Amino acid sequence: MFNQGRLKQVTSALPIMAALCVSSLAPLTAMADYVGPAVVAKANRQLWGETINTPAGFDRASRASILVYILALQDMQRLSEAEMLTSFKIKSVNRASVEKWLGKEYGLSLLNYQRASTNCSVSDWTCIGNVTTIDDLEKKAADAKLRTPPNLLAWRDNLDNFSRAYIAEQLRLAALFPKVSSEIDFFNENEWNGDAFSDRQFYLSFDDGPTGTQGNTDETLGMLETEKKSAVFFVLGENLQARLKKADRESLTELYTKQCVASHGWEHQSHAKWNEWQDSIKRTQSLLNETLSKYNVVPLFRPPYGQRKDDSGEFFQSQSLHVALWNLDSQDWNSHVTIDDITNRMITLMLIKRHGMLLFHDVHPKAKAALPQIFKELGSTIEWGDCHQLTKL
Ligand SMILES: [Zn+2]
Repeated sequence: MFNQGRLKQVTSALPIMAALCVSSLAPLTAMADYVGPAVVAKANRQLWGETINTPAGFDRASRASILVYILALQDMQRLSEAEMLTSFKIKSVNRASVEKWLGKEYGLSLLNYQRASTNCSVSDWTCIGNVTTIDDLEKKAADAKLRTPPNLLAWRDNLDNFSRAYIAEQLRLAALFPKVSSEIDFFNENEWNGDAFSDRQFYLSFDDGPTGTQGNTDETLGMLETEKKSAVFFVLGENLQARLKKADRESLTELYTKQCVASHGWEHQSHAKWNEWQDSIKRTQSLLNETLSKYNVVPLFRPPYGQRKDDSGEFFQSQSLHVALWNLDSQDWNSHVTIDDITNRMITLMLIKRHGMLLFHDVHPKAKAALPQIFKELGSTIEWGDCHQLTKL
């Protein structure tokens, strides 16, 4: 099931990702002109050419990626309010929210570079010595850029373009927050998005299911079983109810065995604008608790589009639910994004971010094809968390 509202909402963000074609040397004043055809930022990891399937290989690729990312961040933070209004096609910019996101992203990038550098060797161009401040990281990243080996210049340009497109995507969300709520920020301590997970720790999540019997949900679950991985499935109450009309309770418990199931609300509507949002959450939670075992149901709620009310914290606490957002969006719902694009995008983001909550949709077929490739390429260099641990965060 695909919600048209989501298509409309996210398609409007696509032109920003057209930063794909922008040279790293482009003057900042040109940024407002980057709005072009709907092109999604696509990284080409083949240009890196080294394995990331060992701890040292992962860290080296991670360091190199963060060095590119931090310079893109430095450039993009200079976007003026007027440039954001034009580039992001929005009517107002919450500058404080933008500054907050930038500050957080700089802090995370510094920490991530430090984490990736624990086993650095002097002769490695990605090793820039101890960095303790953001200024230091930016300065040394600029020096490292000049030392980029010639065979990696194409990789560098590609990642620079990807980074700018990704940062634009995030800045747009930050500029709109809290008028338009999303995964970009929180309203209270009861909400999280994966930014605070431990180094190299990743979790999987799938939204919008379940599909009808023998659909993509079943196949996605089969893939996870084969790969021995777990995930949280944020289901829509109405979809679960529809499935229950054709399948008994036991078969659903069997279907989600070893996995976690949580609420995505009754209908795929913004829970910031819908009058019945509280009823949506209560109904879905009741159905989950009646249908599945205590082991399967985890006390989390993921708002459709990440949209919830700024004063909803008290209600969620009264329901003993945490608001579980995400920080690594696969865009697998997007018809312009192929299975390869998803693999490239997610691995690139995982190297830059080094931890987080991955967002996929089990109602679409791409994740079940992209994830085995992601698992294979990363091997055991990272930790895929058990979804049941999320309730202890
Ligand atoms: Zn959804």
